Amino acid sequence: MLFLALALLLFAFFFFRRSSTQLKQAGLPGGRIIYTDTRGWGKVEKPLFDSELELTGKPDYLVEKNGKIIPVEVKSGRAPEAPYDSHIYQLAAYCRLVEKTYKNRPPYGIIHYENRDFAVDYTRELEQSLIDLLVEMKRDEHKTDVPRSHEQAGRCAKCGYRNICEQSLA
Ligand code: SF4
Repeated sequence: MLFLALALLLFAFFFFRRSSTQLKQAGLPGGRIIYTDTRGWGKVEKPLFDSELELTGKPDYLVEKNGKIIPVEVKSGRAPEAPYDSHIYQLAAYCRLVEKTYKNRPPYGIIHYENRDFAVDYTRELEQSLIDLLVEMKRDEHKTDVPRSHEQAGRCAKCGYRNICEQSLA
């Protein structure tokens, strides 16, 4: 069985930054700014696992609120206007993992940037988008030719595959 352990890291590889308008068009929640108290955040010791999707991952923190377990993903750097698609999908994957592990569906997850936190609602639509994405990634896994999904030269400049990639922008 092939686990999608690295899938979460690959989200960043598949998605480019979009404005909140584009996010709405894509059907993803844009995220709302919230204030969070980091004192209640608990470190996650072991990776969580979802056998149905063959997905595993470890959120940075879990916080308990009103009987719900909320995953928190910490990102370095200042907050964008709205969370990036890659960050939203990563958080959605953690929400899914929390639900499967604790049998308790988080109503939202938190993306924590240096200067701002966003709450992203874990809707049924977001969950379905995540499942569709994972299916797509699995389908493309063995393809030798997968088109580049972004126009960011900076991303290619930092990419470990740029010397062998025929679509590199850098
Ligand atoms: S070098 Fe190729 S694989 Fe790497 S980010 Fe650019 S397009 Fe993607």
